[in-house]
Amino acid sequence: AMAGVGPTVVRYDAALEQQVTRRSQMAADLRRALAEGEFHLLYQPIVALPDGRISSVEALIRWTRADGRVVSPAEFIPVAEDTGAITDLGAWVLETACAQAAAWQRRHGGAAPRVGVNVSARQLLDPRLPATVAAVLDRYGLRPDGLTVEVTETAVFGGGHALATVAALSAQGITIALDDFGTGHSSLGLLRTCPVDIIKVDKSFVDGLGGSPQQEAIVTALAGIAATMRLDLVAEGVETEAQARRLVELGYRLAQGFYFARPMPATEIDAMIEQADSR
Ligand code: C2E
Ligand code: CA
Ligand code: CA
Ligand code: CA
Repeated sequence: AMAGVGPTVVRYDAALEQQVTRRSQMAADLRRALAEGEFHLLYQPIVALPDGRISSVEALIRWTRADGRVVSPAEFIPVAEDTGAITDLGAWVLETACAQAAAWQRRHGGAAPRVGVNVSARQLLDPRLPATVAAVLDRYGLRPDGLTVEVTETAVFGGGHALATVAALSAQGITIALDDFGTGHSSLGLLRTCPVDIIKVDKSFVDGLGGSPQQEAIVTALAGIAATMRLDLVAEGVETEAQARRLVELGYRLAQGFYFARPMPATEIDAMIEQADSR
């Protein structure tokens, strides 16, 4: 049938409606959970190769519901994005991570790790984000380069002000990391248009380490590109000693993954820093 001329068919789609209801319920639940303090941040070390010393940390959100069930961010962040709840949630993450970064600086001085925060597509559409970030840094007396903002290619290309927002954050001195690098449609093109300090090579490529040269090609090529462009390079999702060894051979100096350390509470990061200091 031609659009606009045939009779309008309204089909009652129960499954879809149920999904929509579930999502809006979760959105309301997210706001309540934020008010009631059900979220917390874990911090996963990004370590220097080959010695495994902590170099920086990535803040990763967790939601523990009243019944003790822990909900994965992979489940609720997309809902928070779609419903706009990410605005408040993202602000809370930024605030909490910066408060923690300041506490680490007071306690450990120069040994305090730089802190990375994930910023989603919708947050980048808010032209006030750079001012919000500047205000938070100011409040905690943090230098802008002590904060890394992790963005994905999809988010940067999300239209509107996204790219301009990243550029403004970068101009303020905030470190910019491209997350899940290589999984988008024009990751390499983005390196020319977007101010970037760090490339985080997606786990799916790290998984191919130790395989054929074809399987290793992207991880290998990115080592060359990062060196030429003077970018830091982080291998994500490193799970085995063999992968870590291979990364060292390929010239990687930074890695993140369960092989080195899982996401952990801030107090465990303190213990890691103190241990490294006393060595
Ligand atoms: P991401 O930013 O790519 O974060 C890395 C994810 O990989 C984390 O999952 C981390 O726990 C996991 N990971 C780290 N090392 C390994 C490994 O060796 N093996 C495996 N299998 N996984 C590893 P997590 O914490 O479940 O977070 C999932 C995603 O949710 C994140 O992916 C990020 O996109 C999003 N996310 C998490 N926290 C936040 C947040 O505060 N704000 C926003 N906007 N998104 C967040
Ligand atoms: Ca990330
Ligand atoms: Ca990632
Ligand atoms: Ca990811």
